[in-house]
Amino acid sequence: MVKNLNVLLVEDEKRLASAIKFLFKENKIDCETVFDGKEGYQKALNNEYDVIILDVMLPNLNGLEILSKLRRCGKNTPIIMLTARSTVNDKITGLNLGADDYLPKPFDFDELIARVKALSRRSGFVVMNEISHGDLSLNLSTGELSNKDIKVKLNFKEKEIMKLFFISPDSVITKESLLNKVWGSDSFATDNNVEAYVSFLRKKLKFLKSNLNIKNYQKVGYKLEEEND
Ligand code: CA
Repeated sequence: MVKNLNVLLVEDEKRLASAIKFLFKENKIDCETVFDGKEGYQKALNNEYDVIILDVMLPNLNGLEILSKLRRCGKNTPIIMLTARSTVNDKITGLNLGADDYLPKPFDFDELIARVKALSRRSGFVVMNEISHGDLSLNLSTGELSNKDIKVKLNFKEKEIMKLFFISPDSVITKESLLNKVWGSDSFATDNNVEAYVSFLRKKLKFLKSNLNIKNYQKVGYKLEEEND
């Protein structure tokens, strides 16, 4: 069975968004629509889509900001930017920030579908989905954490925790924040679950002979930092 393409559309013009969604459905493309920039960013960060379509002018977080935040987190899903302001400057900014394509409004719906299909074909070849910090690299698709030639496989939750450390390397991450982001705010997990996973990760860091370790900040949380001994 061929899986439908799976697209995230972040567009605050509700009539346009529902028209696109309808059209996609007729073309066997699954489309999730979000009308708010912040919510769109969260969806894009936490889910896997074949293609993401971002309007530029959006409430709370604009399309260019979403794009740059996603790319900084190592998310390399193909992105098409939509905008009413078809100025050259927007286009250059968008492409510099890592957009894969750009479609000025008003656009032809067939053109949008053609570009979504073209990008999703290409995405099959974008296998590198790696983020690095210090001597470590984390492959977000396979969950493999490596220090040069030494590799270790992380399970899903370990990978999500490590990703959070990599994304905010200078911050102490609270247990509460780890619980919310990795287990979900509606889960019954407790601090003990977080502690257990941190200890699994410490063992794996040791195995990798990494300079980095997860330091405990009493009553606050954890921080991934270099050991100076
Ligand atoms: Ca808009």
